[in-house]
Amino acid sequence: MTSTLIKNGRIVDGTGKPAVDGSVLVQDGKIAAVGAAADTQATPDAHVIDATGQTVMPGLIDTHCHLSFDDAGSNAEIFHQRRNGLSALVASYNARKLLRAGVTSILDPDSTFENMIDLRDAIDANIVQGPRMSCGAYALITGVGGTAGQLINDEGTTGYYMAVNSKDEIVKEVRRQIKYGADWIKVHVTGIIPRQAHKGELCVWTMDELKLICDTAHDLHTPVMGHCRGAEATRKAAVAGFDLIFHGTAMDDEALQAVIDHKVPIAPALTFQYNMVEFGKKIGTSDTLMAMFEREITESIDSMTKAHKEGVPLLTGSEAGFSLVPYGDWHYREMEVFVKYFGMSPLEAIQCGTQKSAIGIKMEGEIGVIAQGYRADIICVTGKVDEDLSLLGNPDNISNVMIDGVEKDLSPLPKRNRIPGWRLASIGDTRLTREVAYGEEQATQTAFIEELH
Ligand SMILES: [Zn+2]
Repeated sequence: MTSTLIKNGRIVDGTGKPAVDGSVLVQDGKIAAVGAAADTQATPDAHVIDATGQTVMPGLIDTHCHLSFDDAGSNAEIFHQRRNGLSALVASYNARKLLRAGVTSILDPDSTFENMIDLRDAIDANIVQGPRMSCGAYALITGVGGTAGQLINDEGTTGYYMAVNSKDEIVKEVRRQIKYGADWIKVHVTGIIPRQAHKGELCVWTMDELKLICDTAHDLHTPVMGHCRGAEATRKAAVAGFDLIFHGTAMDDEALQAVIDHKVPIAPALTFQYNMVEFGKKIGTSDTLMAMFEREITESIDSMTKAHKEGVPLLTGSEAGFSLVPYGDWHYREMEVFVKYFGMSPLEAIQCGTQKSAIGIKMEGEIGVIAQGYRADIICVTGKVDEDLSLLGNPDNISNVMIDGVEKDLSPLPKRNRIPGWRLASIGDTRLTREVAYGEEQATQTAFIEELH
């Protein structure tokens, strides 16, 4: 029997309860005891970790992380510059960055060539190291297109998308994805129609179609998750039977009520926007664009706060995979969004990022809590995390990461070199007008971020 005793730690158990000092005993991959019982039950041969001055807490769970995208700056890059085998190999490198950031589980909603199913199986088989993974395959979209607008082919696959154009195609594709190992069915419930972009993202499915996806998937014991921006899509998804909603921004009263009635968990994934709000200046973003990003967060404050109070689980998701939220750096940050904008205490936010986010891995009651019987997905972090969440942002603070009781290698990753043909060649979209060249004017980036993720 392998056992580890983590001593002298400040235990934040992930349930929202205040921290307590004490020990955690891990045996055969599970938490065997917590507190005084851990000390008395530990055998003399137990491996000891001294966590003096550290927080001992459940590993972080990121329910919105695209491991196959490789910090892309555009959908065009993901759609046209990626190769199947290579993107899976690159993802296996990036997966190790997540471990070093204290992430022990992720939900990968959709991937190029649906190849994160392969990475998940390789991690499960202990062939490569990475967090525990739960995966979608291709994101379902109608012929109307998704957030990448007209870049998406009218039929078949484009990047991480699969267009389905009839009820027969829906049924066939949902069954095919489940057959090949999808843990979840991902649906882009909303999309942008370029000609109508001023209306924001529109719901691109009928209610019958959304219900058909849910019925087909649920019959095969597979949950359904949806990218939903705007009230109509969020309401329809909740009523149709979706098991998880991403974004859920700009809900009206009806949408909020539907989410509350059906207790559909929401992963707002606002880290992307928050990074732009706080650091946009550093990457040359205009004030107008930054204000637009902040509005997306502030417009959701009322509905998210109410949903949280009514018992709708809010899950943490970083949207990592895009250049604004590089792997390894921002996975904890959604908890800061919840504190700053949704009025949560750090302990409540930690509960969202651990116990509640276990819903995204479909392992509620098994991971995300430090309590007897749970799987030992545990991290040790220097300092009092329940008083300062930003401690999680510095990998130097994270000394131990274990999954199923097995400690992961946190040594620095080898330096990565350029991959031929991998990035989209671009000279940037800042126009070198004569005013910029010879005048006082400082050029700022014009980004079209609404056409991402
Ligand atoms: Zn996404």
